[in-house]
Amino acid sequence: MEPLAQGKTLGILGGGQLGRLIAEAAATLGYRTAALDASAKSPALQIVDIPIIGAVDDPLAALELAEASDLLTLEWELIPVGVLETVAKARPLYPAPSVLAVIQDRLTQKNFLARHGFPQTPYGEATTAAGWKYPVIIKRRTHGYDGKGQCRLESESDAPKAAEVLKAPCVWEKKVDFKAEISVILARGRDGKTAVYPVAENAHRDGVLHATRAPARIPRDVAAKAVALAVKISEALGHVGVMAVEMFLLHDESLLVNEVAPRVHNSGHYTLGGCAVSQFEQHVRAVCGLPLGGTDLLEGQAAMVNLLGGLWDKGEPKWSLLDEIPGVKLHLYGKSDARPGRKMGHYTVVGAAADAEFARADARLEALRG
Ligand code: AMP
Repeated sequence: MEPLAQGKTLGILGGGQLGRLIAEAAATLGYRTAALDASAKSPALQIVDIPIIGAVDDPLAALELAEASDLLTLEWELIPVGVLETVAKARPLYPAPSVLAVIQDRLTQKNFLARHGFPQTPYGEATTAAGWKYPVIIKRRTHGYDGKGQCRLESESDAPKAAEVLKAPCVWEKKVDFKAEISVILARGRDGKTAVYPVAENAHRDGVLHATRAPARIPRDVAAKAVALAVKISEALGHVGVMAVEMFLLHDESLLVNEVAPRVHNSGHYTLGGCAVSQFEQHVRAVCGLPLGGTDLLEGQAAMVNLLGGLWDKGEPKWSLLDEIPGVKLHLYGKSDARPGRKMGHYTVVGAAADAEFARADARLEALRG
């Protein structure tokens, strides 16, 4: 199939910050943009050419988006596969519904990775407490993200604590004693060519991404192994577009796959300004059939710090305090309601100051709070 011609419309299923950043990149490449979300105030609907208001899991609303678009993509992996199959009959959709069918359910995803020989922590279906390996994490099979719908148990005596989370189907996963959390962000084109970003190192707070730095402080051969794993996963899935693979680095330098996201990813935000072509532009390039762009870090290193709703506790944060950081850039997503834990924005630091900023992100956030 030909590349999507400039002037045509890229439609995005979902209107969150990821959709907004994809739409901004698409506009820069000369495309018109459309997005579907339940709220006109959503980050992407504020800025696209054709905002369509409706639920992403409503097939009629999704078809309306398809009719307004020449090609479709998504920013959220939990859109029901039936809806994706419906719109894929109307317009080309990347990634394909079959990719999402594997990813959406943690158990299906883990079984897929196991079948293809990718290393993971011991896991199983959590129907009863039998066979769990402690310390264990119980996770909802669907609709759990950013540490939500999860429960951590140190030993068998904790098992009753899982009752609430177990009201929906779950998997159990042995807790990993890791040295670092890393992620590989890559793009795979319609032609199967891949472009991989430098491996990133992530810090989480309460199961939510807090900060990222790239390149990760890991040996070169470990980074190469992580990249090879991620590329093989994208090939096994037949993915098209940007994809993130989160991994645990163990103390013996071995790697376990945590989870796969078939979309642009929070841990790839550092590429926006940090790399020649951002993950958002790369995603647009991949799904539209354009050649993939450069993934090198422009100034050797980059960092990203998430700005969650709690930062607004005392009112608007003191953004002027960021100005003292060389190479800093603030990105706010246009969300008006700063609920605790909600991803409101992030800032990136590109160049020599990035390492130090990653290390002092907590103190910086405290200062911004006022
Ligand atoms: P998830 O939403 O499954 O990626 O989990 C969010 C975060 O919780 C991860 O990035 C880790 O920091 C932590 N986590 C999840 N699963 C495990 C595990 N099996 N062992 C240790 N930490 C985990």
